[in-house]
Amino acid sequence: MKKIIIAIDGHSACGKSTLAKKLAKEMKYVYIDSGAMYRAVTLFAIQNNWVSDDGQSVDENELINALDSINISFNYNSKSGKSDTFLNGVNIEDEIRTMKVAKSVSAVAKLKKVREKLVEFQQSLGKNKGIVMDGRDIGTVVFPNADLKIWVTANMEVRTARRYKELIEMGDKITVDEVRANIQSRDFEDSNRKESPLKRADDAKDIDNSYLTKEQTVQSAMDLINAKILEN
Ligand code: C5P
Repeated sequence: MKKIIIAIDGHSACGKSTLAKKLAKEMKYVYIDSGAMYRAVTLFAIQNNWVSDDGQSVDENELINALDSINISFNYNSKSGKSDTFLNGVNIEDEIRTMKVAKSVSAVAKLKKVREKLVEFQQSLGKNKGIVMDGRDIGTVVFPNADLKIWVTANMEVRTARRYKELIEMGDKITVDEVRANIQSRDFEDSNRKESPLKRADDAKDIDNSYLTKEQTVQSAMDLINAKILEN
C-alpha cells in the first residue's frame, strides 16, 4: 500500500501527540514529535543560562552560534513502548516535559534560525513518507504537500485539565491556573509570531476532540486516512 504523510497541527495541549502516536502505531508509520525538538533546543538554552528567569527572552546570539552543536535524536524505549528524545546523546524525555521548559519554549521557537534548522531535520525525516508528524506548522510549512492534514481542537478547560493531570503525574508542582495561563500564553505567542505562526492549513480536516474519547478521536482520524488512501 502506498505510504502517505500525515500532518497534525493545533494549539497546545489539544491531544495532537496522543492522536499522532496512536495513528502511527495503527498504520505502522514513524511518529515524529516536532514539539519535542523545540523543547530540546529550549532545554539546551536553559542549561547554558541563555533564557531569562521568566522564560520570555533568550540570548539569541549565543543560541544561534551554538546551533551546530545541538544534536537531537529519538530512540525507542522498550520499557515505555514510546520513543524518547535525546539531546547530544543524553535522554531528556522527562526534562523537556516540565513547566520550566514549557514556559520558555515559545521564545525559542520564534527564532528564524532555530526553525530553519529544525524544519530541515523534520523534512529529512519525511523523505520516505510513512510518517505522522505533529506540531504547529507541519501542514503549512514543513509538509505543505502532505497527503492528509488534520487540525485538532479541544476547548480550553478540557485542554487545561488534561495537561494538568499529565504534569501532576510527572511530579511537577503546579496549579490548574498556572497550566491554563501557560497554554494561553503559548497559544498567543505561537499564533502571533512572525516566523511560521500556528495556523490551520486551508486544506486541513478538522477534529474537535473536546467530547470524544481517545478511541473515538483515533477512529475519526482513521476514517480520514482510509478515505485518503482509497483516493490515491
Ligand atoms: O507540541 P508541544 O506543546 O510540545 O510544543 C512545544 C512548543 O514548541 C510550542 O508551544 C511551540 O512554541 C513550539 N512548536 C513550534 N512548531 C512546531 C512544534 C512546536 O513552534 N512544529
